Amino acid sequence: MEFNTALLHTETAGKRGTPLEPIYQTTAFQYPTAEELERVFQGTDFGYIYTRISNPTLAAFEKKVAALEQGVGAVACASGMAAITLSLLSIVQGGQEILSGSGLYGGTFALFKELQRFGITSRWVTDNTIASFAANINEQTRLIYVESIGNPKLDVPDIAGLAELAHSRGVPLVVDNTAASPYICRPLELGADIVLHSTSKYINGSGNSIGGIIVDSGRFPWDGRRYPALQEYHKFGPYAYLARVRKGLLTDFGASMAPLAAYLNSLGLETLGLRMERICDNAQELAVFFQEQHQVTAVNYPGLESSLSRSTACQQFRGKFGGLLTVRLGSKHKAFRFIEKLKYGANLANIGDVRTLVIHPASTLCLHHTCEEREQMGVYEDLVRISVGIEDIRDLKLDFAQALDRMSLAL
Ligand code: PLP
Repeated sequence: MEFNTALLHTETAGKRGTPLEPIYQTTAFQYPTAEELERVFQGTDFGYIYTRISNPTLAAFEKKVAALEQGVGAVACASGMAAITLSLLSIVQGGQEILSGSGLYGGTFALFKELQRFGITSRWVTDNTIASFAANINEQTRLIYVESIGNPKLDVPDIAGLAELAHSRGVPLVVDNTAASPYICRPLELGADIVLHSTSKYINGSGNSIGGIIVDSGRFPWDGRRYPALQEYHKFGPYAYLARVRKGLLTDFGASMAPLAAYLNSLGLETLGLRMERICDNAQELAVFFQEQHQVTAVNYPGLESSLSRSTACQQFRGKFGGLLTVRLGSKHKAFRFIEKLKYGANLANIGDVRTLVIHPASTLCLHHTCEEREQMGVYEDLVRISVGIEDIRDLKLDFAQALDRMSLAL
């Protein structure tokens, strides 16, 4: 089954005579006898108990994403940040370390700093070379973490190479695949162990609900001495990690996805392939267009010949390079004028929408980061991030061209 067919015909659809699993808008699930509920709690019978743990609408969404990412299963969470937090804290504990790539989403960067208060150290490599990662792994390292396309740095790590390195040192590779989406990148197929998404972005596609999801390959051999938190879940075999996430931190922290969000995400997912194809084509064309504009001092897009990430992206992406690009315009003032002159680019803090979105990261998403941290994230005072939408490319080009012209006149 090809990608778009799979989006519509994965086994979850139509089970109860509806194309999409309905919204089970309930807190808990009733059983006729005390014995039955006891068996469900014991795990000897399968059944739903309480929506904080699982729910049929969530399960259908999880099954679809797990199939797309080629994992053994998935756990849906309240947000992308919840997915990142739960995925990592299910593995590491105080006194241990996370080794991460250079181009991270600002919220993840902030989380890693927060985790230092809990005794979990994060080490960042300043470039994404295998040699830099290898040089920074030590006895305390318990996982390597990267984004398949750094947001907004737009760097692309060598996932297969990192997986090989991670495994040779006995640690898993965790990949945030939000910016690429499973349409262009499948980290588990490249050797990664765990993949996660902020579903608030491309998976949902219309910016109508916050969510996250964790997918596991089921392949990583969790050594009980190095990963004591997983020991009691070894009995679940390839589902050990997902059982740890669901029965452990998801249940304890209460960061579950709401049924309505799961429904909206399942609905959005159906058009992921069509949207991404159009978005990536638009982004590629716009990146070339911006390169030709004299007001633009730099364009970053992994699909450009000039991009340092292009060769890695060509190897591990499916011929497309995503929907994010950044432009540098010479000053913060120019960046602000450019944004205000746009007719179609909505100035808001999100990516992955069908609409084109723009933002000035330095004054918003990265407001509380130091200059050094911003540079590490690829954020500069004159940089604007564009999340390209599905509008007609001619309209987008005309709009960006008039905004660049009027930006210069407004100085
Ligand atoms: N990962 C990436 C790459 C993101 O861009 C974001 C949000 O922008 C997140 C994770 C966090 O997701 P959420 O906003 O759904 O918590």
